[in-house]
Parts: sequence; C-alpha cells; structure tokens
Amino acid sequence: MSEELFRAEKLTRRYHNAGREVVALSEVDLQLAPGARLGIVGESGSGKSTLVRLLAGLDRPTSGRVWFKGADITALPERRRGFLRSSVQMVFQDPRSSLNPRMRVGDIITEPLRSRLLRPQLVGVDHRTRLTEVLAAVDLDADAADRYPHEFSGGQRQRIAIARALAPKPEVLIADEPVSALDVSVRAQVLNLLTDLVAGQGLSLIVVSHDLLVVRHLCDELAVMRAGRIIESGPTDQVYLQPKTEYTAALLAAIPRIRTGPGETGDSR
Ligand code: ADP
Repeated sequence: MSEELFRAEKLTRRYHNAGREVVALSEVDLQLAPGARLGIVGESGSGKSTLVRLLAGLDRPTSGRVWFKGADITALPERRRGFLRSSVQMVFQDPRSSLNPRMRVGDIITEPLRSRLLRPQLVGVDHRTRLTEVLAAVDLDADAADRYPHEFSGGQRQRIAIARALAPKPEVLIADEPVSALDVSVRAQVLNLLTDLVAGQGLSLIVVSHDLLVVRHLCDELAVMRAGRIIESGPTDQVYLQPKTEYTAALLAAIPRIRTGPGETGDSR
C-alpha cells in the first residue's frame, strides 16, 4: 500500500469569466503523507480554495492529476467517488451558509451517514450513537440535536459544521478559512478544538487561510500560494521564521495578533 495520502501533479484549473480566461491554478505539484497537517496560505484570489476543492474531488482540473491513497481521483467517474465523499470532509468558512437552516442539527450532522455512496466501514453504523459521539467531541450538549442552526452562536455553528464533518469518520479534514467568519473572541476556541480533534482522532488536516497565524497554530507544514502557484513550502516554523520571498514576509507582517489560549498570545508559539 502507498504511504501517500495525496499527490497532485501539474494541477491546473482555468475558469472562463465573461469571455476572459482566469488561470486559478497553474501546474501545482503537491505531496502529503498520512497524518500531515498542511497549511495553505496566500492572498485572496491566489488559488487556495480551488486547490483544496480539487483535492476533495468537488471540482475537476483542466489538466493534471490528483491521487488519493494511490487512486487517481481525477479519472474516477462520479459514481465511484463515494469513498472520497466520506474519507475527505470539508469545513467551510461561514457556518451560516453551510448549514441548512430548515434542518435540525441532529439531521444535519448525520446527513453524511445517509449518503448512498458510503464507505464499507460506515455501513451499519448507528446514527444515534455516532451523533452522540461527535456532539461530545465538539463540546456541544446532546440536546443540540433537536434544535435548529439559528438557535446557536457563530462559534457553536462552526462546531456543528465540524461535527458533521467528523460524523463519517474521515481520514482527512479540509478546513477552508475555518475561523475567518467568527468573532475574534471565539476564534481561539475553535482553533484549539480543531487542534485537539486532529491530535485525538489521528486525522490529517489541510487548512486554508489568508492568515498565517491560523495555520501556524494548526499545521506543521506550510505552502504559500501566489497567482495559482505554490511559491514556497516547508516546515511551518522554517517558512514562518525564515521566509524566502518578500511576498511571504509581507503576509507575515499583515498578521493581526489574536489570543490562542489562556496566558498565551498567538505569536508566541
Ligand atoms: P483563494 O481561495 O486564494 O481566494 P480562489 O481559488 O477562490 O482563491 O480563486 C482563484 C482565482 O480563480 C480567482 O481569480 C477567482 O476569481 C477565480 N475563480 C475561482 N472560482 C471561480 C469560479 N467558479 N468561476 C470563475 N472564476 C473563479
């Protein structure tokens, strides 16, 4: 078996916008080992979301390939992508738009378990039991299951979105700007929750952020994107402490200071 989680080769995605061609991603190569915690940073429009959507199989590249655990997912027809749907789960920026307001939280969280395309390991899993487990994992009370998303605060809604992502026991969690839409006061709590979950459940993690501080908190590897390319990558601390490009240095300089835990400031770790 391959010891590789993801491999991308010459991944390119072009869009056509009102007759104009936009190269969102240009010949990106990437390799990720199981258990990796990768941060992808870069200014708005640099291609971060496009890259992770391709890795999650939510979009197809214009050219290039993505392998997940040795399987070429770019070549798989839709009906054979079921294993990806539950193995790779995404958490999006804004839980207000990613949670269906008309569904009860319990149904939202167990929805991935009702997919027609479940991995064999999930067939027969008791939904009620899994719901209780994941609500506890994100520190929400069991009675949250019977309520609706609007009854919760922004931070709690993001916990619900994380619980839904965890429900199908994924191997990889991809979080696209997971705290940018939240109040500064709850960002650190959600970051700490993600840190604990990844460590406790042995998940691999890919975090997209325009904020280097967020990925420094969560990730041990860093890829810096600009204009559809990865222009710098390496261990987080190395990129953080010795940026090779002016661009990365400028991203670093733009970091706001947030608190990441009791008695700890964001820039101290
Ligand atoms: P980031 O996540 O770094 O902000 P994106 O991957 O969202 O960057 O976008 C990269 C580029 O691709 C941008 O120029 C954006 O406008 C363009 N783009 C992204 N998605 C689409 C789309 N669905 N249709 C047209 N252009 C898009």
